[in-house]
Amino acid sequence: MQHLVDRLVRPEILALTAYQVHDATGLIKLDAMENPYGLPEGLRQEWLEVLAGVDVNRYPDPRGTRLAQALRAALGIPADMALLLGNGSDEIIQMLCLTLARPGGKVLSVDPGFVMFRMIARFAGMDYVGVPLRADDFALDTAAVLAALERERPVLTFLAYPNNPTGNLFDAAALAEIIAAAPGLVVVDEAYAPFTDASFMARLGDWPNLLVMRTVSKMGLAGLRLGLLAGPHAWLDQIDKTRLPYNINVLTQVSAAFVLGHKARFDAQTRLIRQERTRLFAGLDALPGVQPYPSEANFILIRCAPGRADELFQALKARGILIKNLNGAHPLLADCLRVTVGTPEENDAFLAALKASL
Ligand SMILES: *Cc1c(COP(=O)(O)O)cnc(C)c1O
Repeated sequence: MQHLVDRLVRPEILALTAYQVHDATGLIKLDAMENPYGLPEGLRQEWLEVLAGVDVNRYPDPRGTRLAQALRAALGIPADMALLLGNGSDEIIQMLCLTLARPGGKVLSVDPGFVMFRMIARFAGMDYVGVPLRADDFALDTAAVLAALERERPVLTFLAYPNNPTGNLFDAAALAEIIAAAPGLVVVDEAYAPFTDASFMARLGDWPNLLVMRTVSKMGLAGLRLGLLAGPHAWLDQIDKTRLPYNINVLTQVSAAFVLGHKARFDAQTRLIRQERTRLFAGLDALPGVQPYPSEANFILIRCAPGRADELFQALKARGILIKNLNGAHPLLADCLRVTVGTPEENDAFLAALKASL
C-alpha cells in the first residue's frame, strides 16, 4: 500500500510534516497563545440559554449576518469594507491561496513567521518564498523584502503584525513601503491585535492591494474557530467563491455574537494579560542565562544559552509546564523557546520552574 501512497500523493505533500500539537494533559498550558481565562464570570449561564435556543437541525446562516454585524462593531471594521468569515484565520489563508494559486504562483512572507503561510501555500500547490528577518532583533529587512518582491513577483504576501513566533511589531512605515511596492495582494495578519495598539484596519483602502485578517482565537475564543478578513468588496467577492458553504457553524455564530456583545469583559482580560506580559518580561530579564525579546503579543520569545533550549523545555515539562520549543524550527530561532502569557499564578509557576531548571 505504501508504494501506492508514495506514487499517488503529491510530492510536496509527502515532503511535509503534519502540524504538531503536543498533548497538554495535566500540564500548565503555555504553548499555544490561548487566553488563560475562561468565559468571564457570570456570562456562562446566559450563554447556555442562548445555545439552548439554537436550531441545530437547520443549516447556519450562510453569511453569518448577525455575527458579521457584531464583529464590525467590536473590531472597528470600516463601513465601506467587505467582511469574510473563516473557520479560524487558517481557513482564510487557505481561501486566499485557493483564489490566487496558479502554476508558478508564489506566496511570500518573512521567516521566522507563522508556519501556516508556508504550509497552506504548499497545500494549494504554490511556491513559498521566506525572506529572513534581521538576526539581532527580528525586524523587517525592508531592502531584502523589496528585492524579493521584485525578483519573485509573489501573487500573495502575508505579514503578521505583530509577528509570530517573534512577538515584535514591524515598523509601520516599512510595512507601508512593502504594501506599496508589492505586485500582488498583501494580507496583514493581525491575530495579536488585542495585545497592541497598532493596526492597519483603518488604513484599508489606502492601497488597492491591502487586506487585513483578524481572529478571535487569541482574545479568548480559540475553541470557537472564527477568523475574518476585511477589505475591498472587489477582492472579497472573489475570495468568497472559494469558501465552503456554511463554514461557520451555528454554535460558533451564536456564541461569538453573544460574547462580542460583552466585549468590555474580554478587554479587561486583555489588559490583565498585557500587564502580566510586562511582569513576565521583567522576571525573565532578571534571570541569568535567558534573554527575552520585547513583545507586542500575548507571548514572549526567549533565547537560552547555546545548546540548552531542548533540555530546558524538557525540564519545564517535567515540572508540569508546557511551552513551545522553537529550537531547530529555523536557523534564527536556534536556542529559542516561546512562552504564552498566562494568569499571574501560571506565570509565577513558569518563572519559578525556569529558575529551578537553570
Ligand atoms: C494563531 C495565529 C493565527 C491562527 O488563528 P486561527 O484563527 O486560530 O486559525 C493566524 N495568524 C497568526 C500569526 C497566528 O499566530
